[in-house]
Parts: sequence; C-alpha cells; structure tokens
Amino acid sequence: MGDIDRVLDVIRGRNAKTVGLQFPVGLRTKAVELAQEIGAKAGVTCIVSADPSFGACDVPEMPVDLIVHLGHAPMPHLRYNRVFFYDLGSPPLNDLGFVDAALPMLPKRVGLLTTYQFREWVPAIKEHLEKAGREVRVGPPDRRVAYAGQLLGCDYHTATVVQDEVDGYLYVGTGDFHPLGVAILVDKPVVVADPERGEARRLDDVKDRILRQRHGAITRARDAQMFGIIVSKKIGQVRMEMAADLKRLAEKHGRAAEIFLMDLVSPDFLEGYRVDAWVNTACPRIAIEDYLQYKKPILTPPEFEIVLGERNWKDYQFDEIRAY
Ligand code: SF4
Repeated sequence: MGDIDRVLDVIRGRNAKTVGLQFPVGLRTKAVELAQEIGAKAGVTCIVSADPSFGACDVPEMPVDLIVHLGHAPMPHLRYNRVFFYDLGSPPLNDLGFVDAALPMLPKRVGLLTTYQFREWVPAIKEHLEKAGREVRVGPPDRRVAYAGQLLGCDYHTATVVQDEVDGYLYVGTGDFHPLGVAILVDKPVVVADPERGEARRLDDVKDRILRQRHGAITRARDAQMFGIIVSKKIGQVRMEMAADLKRLAEKHGRAAEIFLMDLVSPDFLEGYRVDAWVNTACPRIAIEDYLQYKKPILTPPEFEIVLGERNWKDYQFDEIRAY
C-alpha cells in the first residue's frame, strides 16, 4: 500500500513514538493493516482516529507525536501541525473507454477537471483528448487546492479560472457533487466520465433536480424568524467572520440569529434548538447532499441572502470556501 518507506522515514526523522492515523471512510478497510505494519516496522504505538475524516479541511489534533493523514492533498493555505500527508497516488489508468464514451458529448474547447484521487491521470487524458481534436485547458491550482484541474466540493477555482477559454467541461471521477457545482457556477455543459462505471453522462437532470430542491429550501425558510448559523471548528471549514456578518445581516432585515459552533455537523446534534431554519457556513456539501436528513430547512450562505432579499434567485450561487 503506497510508499510506506516514506512514512517510516518521516516517523524516524521526527523521532516519533506515537503516531495517529486518519482515514477517509473509503480507506477504513486499510486502517488495521497499516497500523499493524507501521507499529511493527517503526516500533511506535499507532492510534487510529475513529472520527470521520472528510477532507484536508478536517485534520483534527491528536495526542500523538505525528499524525499521518491519508486520502487528501494538503490545502496550501492551511498550517498543519505535525501532520504528514501520505500520498497513495492514483490507481493505474488501464483503459480510456470512459473518456471515449464522453467524446461525442464534448465541445471543441474543453476544461479538464478531476479530484485528488485521479489527478495523476490528467496529462494522459489531456493528450488523449487532444489527439481526438479537442483543445484542452487545465486550470492551475489556488491557495486551497494543490493540483491543476483538481476540484473540491468547496472550491471550483480550477473550473472558473478557465471558463472564458472553454465551451464545456469534462469531469473525470465518480459521483455528481463536484461536477454539479461546476454546472451551477458556470453555465456551460459538464460531462462526467466515470472510471468506475466505465461510462459517461451529462448532468442536466441532476442540476435541475438539485436547483428545484434548493428553491424549495429557500421557500420553506422565507418566513423563518430565528436562524441558527452553524460554524464548524474544523481547521479548513471555520468561517466565523462570515457567520458574524450573516447574523448582522439577519438583524438588519428584522430577523434574529444565533451562532452555533460545532465539530461534526449532524442533524442529531441540532435537535431541540428553537430555531426555524439553519444557515450552514461549514462544508458546503452538507446543505446540498444531506438536506433531507434535516427537519428544518438548512441553507448555504448565498441561499440565506436570497431569503433575506439581498440576492435574487436568478443570481443563485453555489457556496464555496475560498482562501484569498
Ligand atoms: Fe471537502 Fe467539504 Fe472539506 Fe471542502 S469543506 S474539502 S468539500 S469536506
């Protein structure tokens, strides 16, 4: 699994005696094996963090000499403390059939996008598209994303920075959330080339369904008098200044708001509070993907502005956490 020797070098170089291991859900099956291997080879005590790990925005402190974080690239703008990001690399790219499936749906000028997991495929896919007659742009990284063409569910810079140079996008990856954000932020077609399913698809239906759902959430929150503004404690999600601004904005419009600070944003922890609607300044995915799990409407900050009349629905914006 990956380059274990580099991890062992870092452990020795820092003279660590205790090592914390943080895994995203998709890599949990590797946790016991890796803890055993590191423990045996480095002679250290490993502690596996059993809290969920959602991104490089979410690297909590642990009572250890070194934290080894897997599955995400560090966010360039954050200062991590005693953290080593263990890079597993991308899986081998054996078959470009899923890219070929996307070709008939692609315009001439294409923005190529992907996630951390598949970022090593970008040069080969770019070359493949160019051979098929496409002009390909790969947006450079910014202060929150580490790799060219990489998307986060909270940062679409690599898509928006090339929007005037492309007529549509090819997103290489699984799931709809990342390409959906692009489709909403930039009014150009987005084609998903899914390496796991080996197929390609357009996103129009998903975009329409999610926008209808967001419109419904905004409508449900229109008469709310008391808003709960959620702020995350996670290192790359905390937006306390924004929360304070939103609270003032609510008051300017004759509504009330209180700020709720929490680590893991979960519907169970928000039960019982006398608020009419939530505004989430933590991970932007929560309001969109987990919406149905919440009894009260949960809005993103730009949606809250629509509720208050500060923004029009036609200027709907996908929420991003940008580092300037
Ligand atoms: Fe991913 Fe959300 Fe963290 Fe952004 S804030 S990196 S979308 S988990």
